[in-house]
Amino acid sequence: MRDRRLPDDTTLSTLLWATCLVLAALLWPWSIAQAEAVGESDKISIGVTADNAPYSFLEGRALSGYSADILREISFNSGLEFEFRAGSWPELYEAFVRGELDAIDAISYRGYLSDKVLFTDPYHIRQTYMMEDSGRPTGPIESIDDLKAVRLGVVESMFYLPYLEDQDVDMVTYDSIPSMVRALAFGWVDVIIGPRLSLEYHADTAGFYFLNVTGAVPFNQRSLEDLRIGVQKDQPELFETIQTALKKIPESRKVELLRRWQEFGGAQVGDRPAMQLNDREQRFLQELGPIRVGIVQDYAPFSFREGGRLQGFSVDVINRLAEMTGLQIIPVSGQWSDLLNMFREGRIDILANMSLDQERLSFTQFTDPYYIIPNVAFTRDGGVSMTNITDLKGYDVAITGGIFYEKDLKNALGDAVKVFTSQEAMFQALEHDRVDVVLSSLPNGNYWVRQLNIPGVRIAGEVNFEDQTGEDLRFGIQTSLDPLAEILNKAMASISTTEMRSIENRWLGASMDINTPGPSNLNLSTEEQAWLEAREYTLPYCVDHDWMPLEGIDSAGNHTGLSAEALRMFSERTQIRFKLVRTKSWQETLEAAQERECDLLPLAMKTPERSRYLSFTDPYVQVPNIVLGRIETPFIEGLGDLRNRKIGVVKGYAFAELLKYRYPSLKLVEVENESVGLKLLQENELAGYITTLPTASYHMQDQGLADLKVIGRIPADWSLSVATRNDEAILLSIMQKVVSSLSPEERRNLESYWRDVRIEQSVDYTVLWQVLAIALIGASLLVYWNRKLDRLNRELAVANDTLARLSVTDDLTQLGNRSYFDREFRKSFQWCQRNETGLAVAMVDADHFKAINDTYGHEAGDHCLIALADVMRRNFRRETDRLSRFGGEEFVIFTSYHHPEEVIERLDRFREAVADSATVYSGKTIHLTISIGLATGVPDPSDTPAEFLRLADQALYQAKQNGRNRLEARAVKE
Ligand code: GH3
Ligand code: MG
Ligand code: MG
Repeated sequence: MRDRRLPDDTTLSTLLWATCLVLAALLWPWSIAQAEAVGESDKISIGVTADNAPYSFLEGRALSGYSADILREISFNSGLEFEFRAGSWPELYEAFVRGELDAIDAISYRGYLSDKVLFTDPYHIRQTYMMEDSGRPTGPIESIDDLKAVRLGVVESMFYLPYLEDQDVDMVTYDSIPSMVRALAFGWVDVIIGPRLSLEYHADTAGFYFLNVTGAVPFNQRSLEDLRIGVQKDQPELFETIQTALKKIPESRKVELLRRWQEFGGAQVGDRPAMQLNDREQRFLQELGPIRVGIVQDYAPFSFREGGRLQGFSVDVINRLAEMTGLQIIPVSGQWSDLLNMFREGRIDILANMSLDQERLSFTQFTDPYYIIPNVAFTRDGGVSMTNITDLKGYDVAITGGIFYEKDLKNALGDAVKVFTSQEAMFQALEHDRVDVVLSSLPNGNYWVRQLNIPGVRIAGEVNFEDQTGEDLRFGIQTSLDPLAEILNKAMASISTTEMRSIENRWLGASMDINTPGPSNLNLSTEEQAWLEAREYTLPYCVDHDWMPLEGIDSAGNHTGLSAEALRMFSERTQIRFKLVRTKSWQETLEAAQERECDLLPLAMKTPERSRYLSFTDPYVQVPNIVLGRIETPFIEGLGDLRNRKIGVVKGYAFAELLKYRYPSLKLVEVENESVGLKLLQENELAGYITTLPTASYHMQDQGLADLKVIGRIPADWSLSVATRNDEAILLSIMQKVVSSLSPEERRNLESYWRDVRIEQSVDYTVLWQVLAIALIGASLLVYWNRKLDRLNRELAVANDTLARLSVTDDLTQLGNRSYFDREFRKSFQWCQRNETGLAVAMVDADHFKAINDTYGHEAGDHCLIALADVMRRNFRRETDRLSRFGGEEFVIFTSYHHPEEVIERLDRFREAVADSATVYSGKTIHLTISIGLATGVPDPSDTPAEFLRLADQALYQAKQNGRNRLEARAVKE
């Protein structure tokens, strides 16, 4: 199968050493040893931005990115040893100006700085690009004037800011590219600008695939940014060394490095530092004779014997490590339990594929894991979900002997645990229904399911054992071989990510999508084939004629929409011809199904009522369920808010039935079809209308309904399956196989039918589409998450909830977020203006919060913010009080009042409550104080909300100046 070969004897050792040396020379070290060899012991401190992915960013404790790669090249060429100081650009720049850094990375040339800074030649010149939401295109932007017409987001401290200010361009500034990208995705701005590589990197890593780079900014020359290294003016020699080393990097090398970051979308491809062994470790290796490595022979694809050869992922890894360290390996293959015994008895030196557990620690030194594999439950029972030991109760569960969770499992399940000595035997037991569930690693199990062609197997979930999330594969080493584990760790760390990935791809790549064996794996049984043959492979079906873009019947009478595409795919892999039976309403379709005029409905949701005459496959499409209202309707938190109001839903739709059960207090009005429902909503006959996000968008666009909006999201989504007549069980099993055979790619294609609903801006849709866009993002996120195995289902429930409130709630503190503030503040302001009532605006900023982060960690900081928000909520519960997180550790409280003293008193009480409380986080008690800037006044017709805010901000500044933990108040008019 693959022609990898284990080193068969000891004669290779010299050759291996030579290879090792050559490799060491090829991998470019940025090493300490290197610099010491040159006799340079002083480290050069250089400031490198920590949050500028993919140019430079922290990955764990190591610096990654294109700029980091360049600096390592310079280090290699010059022998200079850099000490990277990571931080934010303003911090670094200030430190550099104060003389605390020798050099600074990624600085652009500025004439006025040339008396402070020596600039190297640029190592990179980057163009500034614009990014937009493909769902809300702005039209071409070709000039600064075009930019003025949109809401523009920029990152503060970017070099083009002064230019834009000069040109009077309004901008919303963000502190980082990720937050700017998020703002675009959430519809807070229309266009953002930045370096292309960074914009795309952050959009992709956040899963915002609908954000696109649209072109270069219209700034002419000013759109170019040069990245150089800046050196202190008083260190000309250092400057020369760096400049020379930089010039030595061939252009082709720079291109190659850059391309790696581009093509891998910033995946962690930076080469690792070459392995550095200390004297003791080197001596140890030299004196070490051949060692015996135990390798399990039936643990595909990690290690297995095929065609007489031992091969697999773990085998490749150990071979590579042998190459790097010069270890001479004698492979000993066998069954796991035998090998483990031999290892215990000291008859083998290393055991591959070993998971760390407490008991083994007494006789084993473990390397770091080289792979962590999820443990999953394979079963042929439909519909069950298994994610922990309790879920397995009542089933016969197969495992292989000696596996790390054997004891736990036996304690919990007793005799129901069936122990097998080989993977093959275990999966054969599943094949012949002698066990209900097999617990195995995902790739192992997948290998055997395919090898044995076991039909109908599904993954019931990822099973977690206590705190172990997956099975960690490590090398276990005899404790007597002391520094060996550390040596292998070092070697492992220096296998480049690219290489590790290519090894993974070779063995594990294709096998990860167990859920989705291709069309060839459909495995229809003879019985199923005979059943289809008897029907000449032709099946009548019905659809909803008016449910676009999910499904519909067009004017020519043809079936269109997502489900038409699904059927096309189904037919491709089964040869079934689906024959449309036309109906005039969904109600009629359901009747036709009852009358058995159609055998199946390609897109239907399971309900108790329908289950009386239909069977359902697993859902294969999920779409968000939303509530529409008129544009002036307030957002709702849940359906409870609509109690006793008239809510529309299409007659016969799944949710009509489900809602009647779940929310008996709703006054459901069943309407003929979507168009009728929307019309009634517009005419105020209904307070809300429940439907799907895709169909609502479609109709609103189609009919130009700009006066409706999404007012809420129902946590339960539409989960759509193929429904089959329930008197033909065999048809269900055929369709289930077809549905299971959809690949993630194919599911994504189907989803794009509704996710990519294009939005045209002929009428003033702005508000409407903003709200829709938020829901759409929620949906895209869902889709994105959906792809990550079933285990995410649990999190989805939570996510659904969060998404429903995404538009107005801050995740961390559950206070209102910035867009809540923007909206509510304007409202309150106008209300006070109209009613000539006092408005109080208090800006609250945590004192010395940076120090708290620095001392206790960012997470502790977050906890303090949560606690702070709690105290705030306790102190401001009046109906007119509004609380919001303005950003970072800044909050704004605003409220109406009659006497300013009363507000001051409440705020002071709040301030004291904060100072008196403490947050305990991982055993540490953290005290926090806040400063408050208050602005009060009755807004005049000529006043603006911004004035109040500015005054509060000034007061806050004063409070900080005056020593913090205090309140400063300003009256708008005396
Ligand atoms: P002071 O306001 O008293 O002048 O000092 P400060 O240290 O609070 O200074 P500043 O307001 O400028 O800095 C705010 C810091 O708060 C910066 C950032 O590290 C931290 N911060 C902002 N947002 C968050 C957050 O969501 N979580 C945590 N843990 N820290 C945050
Ligand atoms: Mg602050
Ligand atoms: Mg602060």
